Amino acid sequence: MSINILWDQQRPEGIELPVARMIEMILGKETGLVKYPFLVDGYDRDRNQHDAQQILDRMQDTLTRRYEIAGPLLLITPRDLYVNGCDFVFGLARPASSVAVVSTARLRNDYYGRVPDDTDLVDRAAKEGAHELGHLLGLGHCTDPECVMFRPRTLDELDRKRKVLCPVCREALRPWEG
Ligand SMILES: [Zn+2]
Ligand SMILES: [Zn+2]
Repeated sequence: MSINILWDQQRPEGIELPVARMIEMILGKETGLVKYPFLVDGYDRDRNQHDAQQILDRMQDTLTRRYEIAGPLLLITPRDLYVNGCDFVFGLARPASSVAVVSTARLRNDYYGRVPDDTDLVDRAAKEGAHELGHLLGLGHCTDPECVMFRPRTLDELDRKRKVLCPVCREALRPWEG
């Protein structure tokens, strides 16, 4: 079973390959790029954010039915995401239909008034991409603050995570290996 990564057409340039490689390293699985025209909807004008649940609805309906993609599917988008009851989310996964989305909006240094750095952006996008894919592969949240499956609430918590699964999560992933 291969992992599929779909990039928003409005993606940051030049980070697709390094992010994919790092996700493969973290999860120990191959990834493949899928290229389909995909409309990112769920825009809320008042919040200037996109509803992550609506994006997953569209991914589920359009992509899994029309294009018959087998295996987990991750969309990476620069648009800022929220879910009802949360100011923002870095990403969201829906394991029942094997779709997930990650936003790079709050993974960028410039969002926080810091000096832009593509290395930081790649690291964070890969950690959050691997995190959401981990959910699609059956993993839950982890209490180890250095594990990729730890749920970060701030950028600092995200940066504290290492680019690895802890031994417990790695062991839990094993039934999906092969
Ligand atoms: Zn999570
Ligand atoms: Zn863990």
